[in-house]
Amino acid sequence: MSRLRSTRTGGGLTVAEAIRAAAGRLSETSDTARLDAELLAAHLLGVSRAEMLLRHMRDAAPHGLAALVERRAAHEPIAYLTGRQEFYGLPFIVTPAVLIPRGDSEVLVEAALEEKPDARRVLDCGTGSGALLLAVLSRLGEAQGVGIDSSPAALEVAARNAEQLGLRPQARFVEADWHRAGWAGGLGQFDLILANPPYVETGAELDPDVRDHEPASALFAGTDGLDDYRVLVPQLPGLLAPGGVSVVEIGYRQAAAVRAIGSGAGLTAQLRQDLAGRDRALVFRVC
Ligand code: GLN
Repeated sequence: MSRLRSTRTGGGLTVAEAIRAAAGRLSETSDTARLDAELLAAHLLGVSRAEMLLRHMRDAAPHGLAALVERRAAHEPIAYLTGRQEFYGLPFIVTPAVLIPRGDSEVLVEAALEEKPDARRVLDCGTGSGALLLAVLSRLGEAQGVGIDSSPAALEVAARNAEQLGLRPQARFVEADWHRAGWAGGLGQFDLILANPPYVETGAELDPDVRDHEPASALFAGTDGLDDYRVLVPQLPGLLAPGGVSVVEIGYRQAAAVRAIGSGAGLTAQLRQDLAGRDRALVFRVC
């Protein structure tokens, strides 16, 4: 904190000086200390990072930066501190009730739009912030989407995102839990089913940003991380309309195991990789 205090008598820090101090404070916490500092400062100034870097570096530093920097130093993710995360080029509201949308998951959106560009009914299982569903709906003007989640707090965030993205007429959100019999009763069938279920092994060593701040219920799925696939994947055939596809995110070492679960349920699977070349999604179809 003290390093963020003015070194000049009588005057406060400029944005540039405050960012430099903040980046120094965060250098042990974050691999992206300078970027983190810039994002927090821009958030407090209410401008984009680009706008700040171009026009505001000599302005007075915003109030509250030191407090946010201390929270970041305790590993709170930037997205929770700013309440925003971009996904698929769209701005999403995020709170600690939802998993922060990952760039790696954009491959699911691309796969879905390639495999089912004519989808009319879309289901997103474990919608969280609504990122997958709303990104897909933003490109499918005619489609109607349902996002389900077991967390009412997450569904509230998803609904706010639909609203602010102008997608409210296309999306509805329903509290449901695929572990409970009858959860999908009345939902009908879908041309496209998206899912980013929990798939982390319980007890896995995670980055403290994730482990201490993101919702455990969105991350952990038993000792091998496959519990949710075992329950959800066999239910997909009953939810898919004829010719429908389901695009499911997987951990990078889970392709074979999740493919086998699908195959036991009469589904064929096609593998998709993320930009880093890691296995990231399976596209399921009824055989
Ligand atoms: N990709 C997330 C992570 O790396 C995990 C998301 C999930 O379990 N669905 O932390």
